[in-house]
This record gives sequence, structure tokens and C-alpha cells, in this order.
Amino acid sequence: MLNADLPWLQAPLAQALARARSHALLVQGPAGVGQLELAVKLAQSWLCEDRAEGQPACGHCASCRLFASGTHPDFQLLLPEALDASARESLGLPFEEAEAPKAGKAKPSREIKVEAVRNLLSFAQATSARGKAKVVVIFPAEALNGVAANALLKTLEEPAGLLRFVLASHDSAGLLPTIRSRCQPLPLALPERSAALAWLSAKGVADAGGLLDATGGRPQQALQWFNDGLTDAAWQALPKRVARGEVAALSDWAPARVIDALQRLCHDLVRRAHGQPGQFFAAASLPSPKRPGPLLSWEAELRRAARHAEHPLNAGLWIEALVAQARSAITAAAR
Ligand SMILES: [Zn+2]
Repeated sequence: MLNADLPWLQAPLAQALARARSHALLVQGPAGVGQLELAVKLAQSWLCEDRAEGQPACGHCASCRLFASGTHPDFQLLLPEALDASARESLGLPFEEAEAPKAGKAKPSREIKVEAVRNLLSFAQATSARGKAKVVVIFPAEALNGVAANALLKTLEEPAGLLRFVLASHDSAGLLPTIRSRCQPLPLALPERSAALAWLSAKGVADAGGLLDATGGRPQQALQWFNDGLTDAAWQALPKRVARGEVAALSDWAPARVIDALQRLCHDLVRRAHGQPGQFFAAASLPSPKRPGPLLSWEAELRRAARHAEHPLNAGLWIEALVAQARSAITAAAR
């Protein structure tokens, strides 16, 4: 079953269907708000054989059924290897279980490589099987490496026959300008808070407001964090535990998430030191710094640490050092 219906995408989807002039669209905006889902719904709609002009996919014609079963002959979804299974699973499309990494075997790539684009080009040249359209969705477009992007350019500029592209990106600045300039931009903003909260509570997220704020208003990311075991209570307790130097507050977390959480905390404390409210933590959860200086040095140290967050040699020692650094910055800023 296709699972791409996010309630806040209805209006952007209708607008996209009405405004799409180009055969290549670029959905762009922050991560965690449904860019892939919007791209996929656009594709399904263009392929649908029983919809009124300007309406989204009907959901029940032969084409929509093929699409939902993941076997539509005129649709291609291009994802980096590392994302392939999880993205298809979350869309409700068939996927192959990712293999457990074997010794000596390279980790699944986070890039979209030129081989994948070459396979796509033969799809691009073939005639449409059902005669309505052919659609390629590429996500995230910034994962196209340089060679792959260059291999795509000509087809993107002059697609044969009924071919259309939807690229989706949360870092469109990271795209080759030649790719960007061939696409009609389609900005996707953060959803309305009420729509995001309703969706999160329907998914069983308790105290969704705190986690939604923690992610800067990105509901898919809030759901991900919740499913990974993070609660609002644990998130709100974090600033004071870190200020006390409690390593256990972060020791179960993946390195990238540790850095991300500390960066959000530092960001909020700098705002507080300037007399502004925090963005990611509730006011009652944050210590009250008196001056920003030590926090700004800490911010720079966190940026440096973020560059090595993928593979710390000893994760335990690494987190201990980060918490000690956080504690001394917060203590110094309180004086
Ligand atoms: Zn249909």
C-alpha cells in the first residue's frame, strides 16, 4: 500500500499540479517535512489514468494500483543505496532487505552514482509502456555525485517523449548550478503546527509539541526521534543534566545525534544570553546564561567536533569530553 499521504501536502500538491510548467521540477525545503512523499504523489498523479484536470491521483485506476504495488513500468525512483530500503519501506513500496555489512565489503553508499544514472537513461529512452507519461523521482538530489549529475544533464534538459522528472532536495545549494537551472523550483515550507501535531498524535507520539519544537517544526523528524526512543521528558531534561556534567544523559545516543543535540542546546543558550527565547527547548528546561562569550567558543568547538562525529575512535571517551566541555561553557556563561 502506498503510504505517501501527509495531510499538509494536499495544498502544495494541488499547487504543484497547477503550476508545473517544466518537465523537470525541483522540490526544495527543509528535511523531514515530506519532500519525497510530495515528489511521489506528483509522479502518481501524472501517471494516473482516471483523474480530472488539476486533481491528484485517483488511487484506484489500473495505473494507480500498479503504482501502489511498486511495479508501475513508467515510474523510476532513484535513491542512494544507503537510503533505498528505508525510504521504500516508509513509502509502503516493495524493498529488498538491506544486507548486513560483511567484512571487507564497502558500506552502502550515500551517493547516487553514475551507474544508477546510466541505468536510468535506458528507461528514459524507452517508449512509455502505458502511454500516459514516464516519471523519474530522484531523492535527495544533492546525493547525485558530480559524474552522475553530469551524466543526467542532457536528458534533464531535453527529455524524450513523455518523460518528466521530480528532483527533491533539502540542500539545493549543494546541487550543481547546471542541474538547478534546468528545473522549475517548487518550494516546500514547514507544515502548519496544528497539522503537524495532529499527524504526530495520530501516530501515537505523546507530548508531540516538545519533540516538534526540538526538531524545529519537522514532523517526520520528530516521529523518527520518538521511534528511536526519545521522549519529550528526556529531551527537556537534557540541558540541566548536561550542565551538571551527567555523561549518561547522552551515552546511549549515536555520535551524530549527540553533536546535533548539543548544537541545538548551545544555539538556544546563546539566544537566552541575548534575551531571546530558545527554539528547541522549553523555557523552563534551559539554564539562564548571563553572557554569550563562553557559549560562542563552545559553538565553534562543536562545529569542529561535528566534522569527526561519524567515527569517533572511542565513543565513550568522546562523549565524556563533549559533556565536560559543555559543562564548563555553561558554568562560565552563568557567571
Ligand atoms: Zn488513478
